[in-house]
Amino acid sequence: MSRVEPRADVVIVGGGVIGSAAAWRLATRGKSVTLLEQFEPGHRRGASHGSSRIYRQAYDGEFYTALAGRALPLWRHLQDTTGTEVLTLTGAVDHGLPAVVELRARSLAALGIRHEVLEPCSAERRWPGIRFDTAVVHHPEAGRLHADRAVAAFQEAAAQAGADVRHGIVVESLHSHGHGVDVVTPDAVVRGRHVVVAAGAWSHRLLTRASDPAPRLPAMRTTQEQPAHFVPVTGPDWPSFVHHPGALLTTAGIYGLGSEDGIKIGEHGTGPEVTPETRTFRADPAGVARLAAYAARWLPGVDPGSAVADTCLYTSTPDSNFVVDRIGAVVVAAGFSGHGFKFAPAIGELIAGLVEGTAVAPEPFRFGTREAVTAR
Ligand SMILES: Cc1cc2nc3c(=O)[nH]c(=O)nc-3n(C[C@H](O)[C@H](O)[C@H](O)COP(=O)(O)OP(=O)(O)OC[C@H]3O[C@@H](n4cnc5c(N)ncnc54)[C@H](O)[C@@H]3O)c2cc1C
Repeated sequence: MSRVEPRADVVIVGGGVIGSAAAWRLATRGKSVTLLEQFEPGHRRGASHGSSRIYRQAYDGEFYTALAGRALPLWRHLQDTTGTEVLTLTGAVDHGLPAVVELRARSLAALGIRHEVLEPCSAERRWPGIRFDTAVVHHPEAGRLHADRAVAAFQEAAAQAGADVRHGIVVESLHSHGHGVDVVTPDAVVRGRHVVVAAGAWSHRLLTRASDPAPRLPAMRTTQEQPAHFVPVTGPDWPSFVHHPGALLTTAGIYGLGSEDGIKIGEHGTGPEVTPETRTFRADPAGVARLAAYAARWLPGVDPGSAVADTCLYTSTPDSNFVVDRIGAVVVAAGFSGHGFKFAPAIGELIAGLVEGTAVAPEPFRFGTREAVTAR
């Protein structure tokens, strides 16, 4: 017979960046929080590990630009709370297809975010490690998030605020009833008034083991992606960058940034479809060769023969909008589609509002407004 634990206000399933950020925001609002993560701290099987992620505010529309703006003071607050540097501002550059670059410049302008449009030749003088395509926009309040450090800092700040953060606990199923949700693990039932499912690529499967009411999630694809790090041969001044295809670049778009492991570049969402069980953790040599060829053509500031690849999971919705919504006592935060890290503390804040009933899910994040599948 399983041990039954006293009821917490909120049980969070998943200790990636999203669940950890939610634990911090909920605990600082005075909620009793239990966070359950199936693997060890710093594990590399999900989406949130590694030394770097891009933080940028330039998006194609104002919705995500505003959301990134809301995250910025919270990233700073996390740094102040823990004394850990999680965000280094290096600026960010979008370049390539003029129509996309102009759209991003327009979103920044509409929200009063400092930015400048540059000629490719003046951008190359400023950042000699990069060869710039047709149109360029730069905004300085952007840069590099230290991914592993950020997840650890969220968990540390959550624990400081009273959250119970546990690793090595697999949640098997969820049972909703009149007083909340029973979260079933191999040796205990952890009771919550609410549960937050922030289980990344495992979310859909866990929700198939949840009693009604069940959310209607959009069909999500999990892919194994493979960025690579290259040894820099120019100085340390690297902005984060996104190269939009369609002008001079005829292959997939590329993102990149400086990191403690070298200059990281990757294609966005081109990896093979997998499950957490079938993924190989091995980079496809053809994909690494494409990145090396890109580096040889576009990045004079790296040694193109020095690629070291890593793998990571994307869990993507058809339109790349996240799923953050509530049904009954269950909040789901999933489908971060390869661009969720930068928003994590703002998503944590939204999750806290959904739990308290003081926020409603923004329309792009709702269950059931896109092509949906039931959780079972
Ligand atoms: C290669 C790559 C590059 C990226 N670059 C950027 C970038 O530059 N900028 C950006 O903003 N975003 C970027 N992203 C996206 C960002 O990293 C993800 O959107 C984000 O990390 C998703 O976090 P998550 O918490 O939803 O998922 P995860 O990190 O996968 O966390 C889910 C957690 O839930 C746990 N879990 C699952 N099921 C259970 C269970 N039953 N019981 C207990 N625990 C469970 C898992 O073990 C896991 O730790 C990138 C992603 C990748 C893969």
